[in-house]
Amino acid sequence: MQILTKKVEFAVGQSVTDIGGNGLCALVLYIVYYPFADKTALTIWFSLILLLVITRAIIGFRTIRREIGIDSIMTVYRLYVPHIIVLGAIWGSAMIICFNATNNSGYRFFLVVELAGVAAGAAGSLPVFWMVYLIFLFEIMTPVAVMLFLHGDRPSTWLGVLSVMFISYLSISSRRTHAIIVEALRARFKNEEMARVDALTGIPNRRCFDESLSREYRSAIRKGSFLSFVLIDVDFFKKVNDIQGHTAGDKVLARIASIIKNSLFRAGDMVARYGGEEFAVLLPETEETDARVVAERIRSAIESEQIPHPDSECSEVITISAGIAVIKPNDNQKEQQLIDAADEALYKAKQNGRNRVI
Ligand code: GH3
Ligand code: MG
Ligand code: MG
Repeated sequence: MQILTKKVEFAVGQSVTDIGGNGLCALVLYIVYYPFADKTALTIWFSLILLLVITRAIIGFRTIRREIGIDSIMTVYRLYVPHIIVLGAIWGSAMIICFNATNNSGYRFFLVVELAGVAAGAAGSLPVFWMVYLIFLFEIMTPVAVMLFLHGDRPSTWLGVLSVMFISYLSISSRRTHAIIVEALRARFKNEEMARVDALTGIPNRRCFDESLSREYRSAIRKGSFLSFVLIDVDFFKKVNDIQGHTAGDKVLARIASIIKNSLFRAGDMVARYGGEEFAVLLPETEETDARVVAERIRSAIESEQIPHPDSECSEVITISAGIAVIKPNDNQKEQQLIDAADEALYKAKQNGRNRVI
């Protein structure tokens, strides 16, 4: 799914260059064939290409400028595929409209080169969806080959043979390009994923959390909804390290991370490692009473796990303290205020004896 998203972003992002190529090639063909071809058919043909080129430009620019979010990228995909298929069919029809419009072999040769050029030019970006490219290629080049063979004279027949070879060559080479692009996108996706995960606990790291906070913050402003944040800190954790060693401390942290993760049930909720032994929980569209329920669930889940603490002043087992902050964001409130408020609440929880939620 994420790979598909990346493919769509890549293909649509590339489309801005493709559009220039398509628009200019269509314009040249229109100017060259206007004197000979059926003017109405050629003008309709050119207008359709322009229409497709402009709509694709709008989608492409909006995707590049990230005005189209990931949620709508599937809509872009659903538009993009039929769009390419229709574009290929319209290009293919140029051969039918123009080929017999003149007997001049120079103009005919121009037409074949132009259409082959459009098919080859798309091989730079379209093979990200290989099947779509194949359809596009065949839509353009099948009429070319068929019309050349039908024409029957020697040069046209040889050009027809060349077209078939050209189709075969592009089909095979675009398959290879497809494999390379998909492999590169996979690697990029994996790197991006790794850069967002905390190696010790396997949950999202601070960087990922900061991005999520910004996103959820903006979303809360848009929707006018509450956003809750819980800052969690392990009680007397330094003593665990001091007495049992860092390796034991690390294992405790990993266990706590997974307990917190398993205490979150709603799809949008997230936990991240905020720093050393601190965890941040983000609860979109959640009011204070519900945030308190979640924080208390986390606190009691960790306590009932009964992980022995070697020297805690507040319990026999590992416990956490948590500070809650809730805001209904508006443009005057900054994300930092949410964090500061949770930090303050956490400080109070520590002051009031730890192993509690404030
Ligand atoms: P308090 O109840 O006031 O939070 O006491 P505390 O001991 O938990 O607080 P303090 O901030 O003094 O200590 C936090 C400790 O967390 C210090 C550091 O050794 C430990 N720590 C931070 N990151 C890691 C880590 O990745 N692995 C391990 N094992 N320990 C860590
Ligand atoms: Mg701490
Ligand atoms: Mg601590």
